[in-house]
Amino acid sequence: MPEQCPESYEGKAWATPEEALAMLQEWARDHGFAIAQSRGSDRDPVTRQHRRYDVCCTAGGREYTPTGYNIRQTSTKRTNCLFRGKLVCRRSHDDLWVYNSLCTEHNHEPLTCPSGDPVHRKRTLEDLEEIRVASESAGCGGRAVVAIVKAKRPEALLTRRDVWNDRAKLRREALGPYSQTQAFISNLSADDTFSRYTCHGDTVSGVFWSLPACMDGFKAYHDVLSIK
Ligand SMILES: [Zn+2]
Repeated sequence: MPEQCPESYEGKAWATPEEALAMLQEWARDHGFAIAQSRGSDRDPVTRQHRRYDVCCTAGGREYTPTGYNIRQTSTKRTNCLFRGKLVCRRSHDDLWVYNSLCTEHNHEPLTCPSGDPVHRKRTLEDLEEIRVASESAGCGGRAVVAIVKAKRPEALLTRRDVWNDRAKLRREALGPYSQTQAFISNLSADDTFSRYTCHGDTVSGVFWSLPACMDGFKAYHDVLSIK
């Protein structure tokens, strides 16, 4: 079983919930599990800010039972682990955030490797920017991107699969609300691009286009046919 939360964390206070959660997560990672944070509760009637966050083990929740063929396997197995704690902004502690355990027992074996839980592989905004820039370089594969991110942030635990997923997400974001076909047609319809094509639903065929520079050449030398 993962070790219980150490005595030193019981009743420990932090200035912000972010600092508290970062330290608790670090401790959890070093002891073979990960924590998830619930939505805040107990809103302050004046500031409307939350004054309590509950945390639990990511293995909390109903046990995962496969029920069909080829169903999605999640990397974190839920075992209905009851490990829980609470972070409360206490007036008795000058509005510091105090941690108290609600259940210190886990009902599963510790992770064999911290990267086994996606919580510990979470990429920072800087990581994502490194991934975006590196991915624009032709021939920069997943392994190379992982090495680049780890060179900047040695404690990063991302995997090649995370890089692939992030690249796919970046591509989707670049497309915006368009499908790949719609984005292609949108580019063809850009100012000054001459194009002809046939659309059948989301299928495009018979595409012909010419960039503005080529059209200038065509107008100047219309008796010369240049096809690339
Ligand atoms: Zn647990």
